[in-house]
Amino acid sequence: MFEIQTLRKDFPILQQTIYAKPLVYFDNAATTQKPRPVVEKIKQGYYNVNANIHRGVHYLSQAATEAHEAARGAVRDFLGARFAHEIIFTRGTTEAINLIASSFAEKFLTEGDEVILSEMEHHSNIVPWQIQAARKNLTLKVVPIDETGALDLEAYRRLFSERTRLVSLTHVSNVLGTINPVETLIAIAHSHQVPVLLDGAQAVPHLGVDVRALDVDFYAFSAHKIYGPTGIGVLYGKEKRLEELPPYQGGGEMIASVSFDKTTFNDLPFKFEAGTPDYIGTTALAEALAYIEQLGRADIAAHEQELLRYATGRLQEVGGVRIFGRTERKSSVVSFLLEDIHPYDTGLLLDQLGIAVRTGHHCAQPLMKALGVEGTVRASFALYNTKEEIDVFIDGIKQVRTLFKR
Ligand code: PMP
Repeated sequence: MFEIQTLRKDFPILQQTIYAKPLVYFDNAATTQKPRPVVEKIKQGYYNVNANIHRGVHYLSQAATEAHEAARGAVRDFLGARFAHEIIFTRGTTEAINLIASSFAEKFLTEGDEVILSEMEHHSNIVPWQIQAARKNLTLKVVPIDETGALDLEAYRRLFSERTRLVSLTHVSNVLGTINPVETLIAIAHSHQVPVLLDGAQAVPHLGVDVRALDVDFYAFSAHKIYGPTGIGVLYGKEKRLEELPPYQGGGEMIASVSFDKTTFNDLPFKFEAGTPDYIGTTALAEALAYIEQLGRADIAAHEQELLRYATGRLQEVGGVRIFGRTERKSSVVSFLLEDIHPYDTGLLLDQLGIAVRTGHHCAQPLMKALGVEGTVRASFALYNTKEEIDVFIDGIKQVRTLFKR
């Protein structure tokens, strides 16, 4: 097991005080902090190997291209994909989902076709489908959740019809922490010959994901939630699936030849990567993946699960705490409400103590509606968090409770 205090030194931001209190950063589901090697990689990239990639004959352009393509290879290894060209770099999960929604709808969807989503989706896996639904007169069908925050599998089975064309679901809920039984969900969809897109934004930081073992058709995630830079994301797609889809954006890089009479498109992955990519960001993402591999994904998961167990237990001791998301398989996220105290008030008071949590609807308003609340307080843990920080957080929660009891 890694030594947590040594590891925390890799994250300079964690050393600071906020309002003269040591920072307790529990907003990791929104974004994670970056270790030195990742920031160093960005700095060294701009200082030493910055030149526009692909087609350059000069040394620097080739070095930058090699680093960028090596990063693609690292992501392929990380996800267990077959080919590097099945890895498309995007700006984030949101752009990856928009890409599929737009291209898939363009090619395959016509009036009356159906796409299955769930009640626990992030807005970025709802709105792109609504845009296409409005454009093409599609029907969106929604899998409900049960009282523990799990998807209702029987309801899911019943949603399939001969018009179902795609399933797009989150792997892990950003609010409830629910780890969905994606193997089963995919197998059911495939038994109807329906492909599946998984939103892995909250999964890859915590779970080992093997896209081939899952047999998933498309998989999306964001670098910034896995200790990498902002502005970089990944769309994995099976070669066959990506090949049959039309380009999402037009521009440089994505073409084979251009004339005013006829333009032909480049091969995968470049067909989906119009314009100059963030080739420094991709190498920093590869560095982030190497960082967590070197710590050990299983050890990170065990540590986070211990934090989740500890935080849940201690929150329950406080009394008056309602926790949302009680499935057995959960990632290190605790959403809760403290009696009838507004989540913003809880968040603001915790902030005064140097504790960063997220409050509100967490970009999941349909889920809030299903839970019958306006918002929640969410504490989410990463590899660098400690039980001592959870103790500080629990003391903070007690103070909030006392203050509002007056
Ligand atoms: N899906 C889920 C489940 C998320 O938690 C998030 C980020 N909050 C997103 C999608 C969107 O990710 P990004 O903003 O990095 O594109």
